[in-house]
Order: sequence, then C-alpha cells, then structure tokens
Amino acid sequence: MEFIGQSSIVEDFGNKIKNNKLGHAYILTGEPGIGKRTLARYLAKTILCTDRKENQAPCGNCRACKTFDVNVNPNFTVVRHETRSIVIKQIRNMLEDIEIRPSEGKKVYIIEEADRMTTQAQNCILKTLEEPPPYAVIILTTAIYDSLLITIKSRAVQVSLKPYSLDEMREILNVNRISFADKEYLLSLSQGIPGKAINLIDDKDFEESRNKVMSFLFDNSTMSAMEFNKYLSDNKEAFSTCMDIIDSVYHDALMVLYSIEDGLINPDKKDNIIKYANEHSTYSIMQKISRIQEIRLNLKRNLNYQLAVDIVTLEI
Ligand SMILES: [Zn+2]
Repeated sequence: MEFIGQSSIVEDFGNKIKNNKLGHAYILTGEPGIGKRTLARYLAKTILCTDRKENQAPCGNCRACKTFDVNVNPNFTVVRHETRSIVIKQIRNMLEDIEIRPSEGKKVYIIEEADRMTTQAQNCILKTLEEPPPYAVIILTTAIYDSLLITIKSRAVQVSLKPYSLDEMREILNVNRISFADKEYLLSLSQGIPGKAINLIDDKDFEESRNKVMSFLFDNSTMSAMEFNKYLSDNKEAFSTCMDIIDSVYHDALMVLYSIEDGLINPDKKDNIIKYANEHSTYSIMQKISRIQEIRLNLKRNLNYQLAVDIVTLEI
C-alpha cells in the first residue's frame, strides 16, 4: 500500500526508519480534513511492519500489518477523546502500557486531536514525551498546534501536512470510492483538503449557494441584485461560502482573459465565464477581488453585516 500525497513526509519517515534514525515523538499538524489521522496511521503501520518493501511502504501481508488492519495489533494504541477532553486517566493508562516491552519491534502510540488534552494530561505526558522507552514512538495530531503547551511542542518534532494537488485529490476520492463526476469544481474549491471536498459533495446548502451566486453573476433575470441581497441577509452562515464562489469565478475569468482555460475551477460554467470575462476588464476584476477581501477583513473587525451585504450586491 502506497500513500497518496505528502510524499516528502512519507519519504523522510521511510529514510529515517531505514537508517534507524526515527525520532521518538512527532506532532502532525494541518487543517481539519487534510488527513492527519490517515497519515498518522500509515506511518504507524510502516513503523510496525516487519517486512517493509524497498521504498519502506508497509507490506500489507505480515502479521503486524494484518493485525493492524483489523485494529488488533498489540503494539499499536490510539488515544482519543471519549468526553470533550482527553483526560489524565487516559494518559496514565497509556503510560502504564508504554512500560510493557513488546516481544519484537516497536510500539506506536497516536494521540488524536492532542489539543484536547487537559493541561493536567499534557503535564502528565511530558516526561515520557521527552524520553520514552527506546522501542516507543508517540505521534500526536492536531489542527491547532498553538494550543499545545510549549513544553509539549518543544519535546516533539512538528510535521506539517501540505494541501494536496488536484490529481492527488482525485486519486484520494477515487480510492475512497467517492463519486464527484459532475462536481469537478469541488476539488478546486476545497483548496487541496480532501475532507472539505468530501463534506461539500453532499452539502445541499453549498449547492444552493453556488446556484444563487452563479445566477446573480451571470443572469440577472433569474437572480436580481435585490434578490441576492435578500438571500445573503437571510443566510448569514452562507456568506463566506458565497464569497469563496464569487472569488472562484473571478479567478476563472482572469484565466480566460489570460487565455489559460485549462485550469478553471468551474469548468461546468465555462461558457458563462467566457462571456463574463469578455464583458469585464482585467483591471475591474482585480478591483472586485480586492474589494471582497476588504469586506471580509472588515467584517472580522465588526463591519455591520447588512452593510457588507449591500456593498457586495451593489458593487460586485
Ligand atoms: Zn507488513
């Protein structure tokens, strides 16, 4: 089994395992939905496999791999929150287990959403994180790296996951048998984060927002500025998504104006976008893009929401 994407991380781990240079504690970081959990498990499986391939990928056939796949590998433990937090008792249990030497190879511990550890739990693991038994590897995952205690961060190596390329996104969705056939635009809109694309596929609200935005931008007879204004006023939670979609149309219009029509985010709206691009100058589109940025920024700094909606529907 090869891992899709994150190749520099996977290769780096592979080399470290091969050369016996693996560290004892890592923190995988990256946006929600980017695949920290999947990567952590893949790395754990790689570390535990007793018959790794040439490129250090797990073989999938040895006893370690097989037990791993059905969640009964005795040398693999996942700690995750059972209540809102990961509490000190869970960490104490883990530390008890970590003292037990494996019959062969390593033991791997994953602490998922490590930011959910209480302060006591974080303090409790400090000493072990600094110097675990030689056979143990501890992998923490978190989307909010900064919320970990500085003493935790200083005892582990941070590994940041990068957004996936479009091809990798396609491959990930294919492997997971998720069909996105007529929704290619979701891949680009998800900014390289598979979890986002997966969430959007069945998101009816997103589809509605997209239809409204497209009508507003391309066909005033089906969606006038006033109607769009009302939609945004009534659906505050859709505002940010609508701005993302408008941005994606501007992006596409600029691509058309620069004669690059391969990388459109919204290929299903190509005809409309070409028409739109022909009716607007590069300059005016750039202006609109910065206007939207400005509005978003000002909203965070307490610009009145209805005023923001008015500006968008009048000026965009
Ligand atoms: Zn194996």
